[in-house]
Amino acid sequence: MTSLVSGAVCALCESPATEAIDPPRRTLDRGLDPSDTSYSVTVILPDVSLCAGHAADVREGEKVIGWCDDEQCRTYGELGETSACGHPFIKLSKSKT
Ligand SMILES: [Zn+2]
Ligand SMILES: [Zn+2]
Repeated sequence: MTSLVSGAVCALCESPATEAIDPPRRTLDRGLDPSDTSYSVTVILPDVSLCAGHAADVREGEKVIGWCDDEQCRTYGELGETSACGHPFIKLSKSKT
């Protein structure tokens, strides 16, 4: 059993998370800082906290993890679903395209 921050909940439901898995990709290009054009922001994404059932679903490809990068969210969710801020979760593909 991997250690987790206590109180973490599953990214796909409200159940307590029992494990943390690697996200589909570890970095996300947030783009240029508007106040400094020489500066490009790349964020490091955290582990995905999941309950046992959803961890199995993700490993088997039944569910695909997406990410909302809105300031209010910055959370994982199921790809295709709408996040709390109203934007859809975006795909975290392994390739750069
Ligand atoms: Zn779950
Ligand atoms: Zn959101």
